[in-house]
Amino acid sequence: MQAMLMKKVGAALEWTELADPRPGPGQIRVQVAACGVCRTDLHVVDGELPQPTVPIIPGHEIVGRIDALGSGVEGLRLGERVGVPWVGHTCGVCPYCVVHRENLCDRPLFTGYTRDGGFATAAIADARFAFPLGEVGSDVELAPLLCAGLIGWRSLVRAGGGSNLGLYGFGAAAHIVAQVAQWQERNVFAFTRPGDATSQAFARRLGAKWAGGSDETPPEPLDAAIIFAAVGDLVPLALKAVRKGGRVVCAGIHMSDIPALPYALLWGERQLRSVANLTRADAIEFLKLAPQMAIRTTTTTYRLDQANQALDDLRAGRVQGAAVLVP
Ligand SMILES: [Zn+2]
Ligand SMILES: [Zn+2]
Repeated sequence: MQAMLMKKVGAALEWTELADPRPGPGQIRVQVAACGVCRTDLHVVDGELPQPTVPIIPGHEIVGRIDALGSGVEGLRLGERVGVPWVGHTCGVCPYCVVHRENLCDRPLFTGYTRDGGFATAAIADARFAFPLGEVGSDVELAPLLCAGLIGWRSLVRAGGGSNLGLYGFGAAAHIVAQVAQWQERNVFAFTRPGDATSQAFARRLGAKWAGGSDETPPEPLDAAIIFAAVGDLVPLALKAVRKGGRVVCAGIHMSDIPALPYALLWGERQLRSVANLTRADAIEFLKLAPQMAIRTTTTTYRLDQANQALDDLRAGRVQGAAVLVP
């Protein structure tokens, strides 16, 4: 197999020839057809997450077909198209796992961070964390659903009800959540980097009621806001934009420091929380609903050997929608 391997933190990924992996008990091997590039991959490559496993193959939005089954795998078959997300394994016995909060597992493995991911022609996955995708939709358009879609969905549920939803950072996740929110008959207010007219126009094309810079005040108070950008300065801005009792959800795994803020911004029973990882129940729920919601992902495809280019483009904010690698 071939892979774009991170040999050390902070260095460019390297095209590497590796022995074909064999699935162990309870595992499957997937021939990768597409793998999305997520902001979290940038955090991994740039060394912004603690204790990365190196060398590692990044990538946790894997779409591919099963071409080998380890012993004891049930419910999946050879040739089946599956998706493999960020949460790649949970222990099943820690205090979080036993109360169905496996997204907070004490001993998890994360695809493309602490176990090898999908920037490769093949990947090994824990069969319990591989989800059948059916045959509707292309591999490339489905790939962003595996993280941007799933984390976006979990964030949206945690943001609660209410008709006015703010999205800070209009990238891969927000462009999916915007469509889901409209399917739920909610109004989307999109916040981008100040002056980013291209992303604002993109948000309006996807049906946002309003789009502007993150430094702007929306024309109506928000019931909830989700922050996808890794920018702590957005927290006070989002708290300011939500009404009393409103929620602000931080959806990213990493964020720059949140500045000191006046208590008045939190007063009025506003809530601030993070969303971490996902559970299998989130994946099953979202992937079942996704076809009904008729989500159309906007993607830019790169060849697998162009992974570094894709990461650079994402870092510079040059990607509209989602970047996807195709081996
Ligand atoms: Zn656990
Ligand atoms: Zn991700």
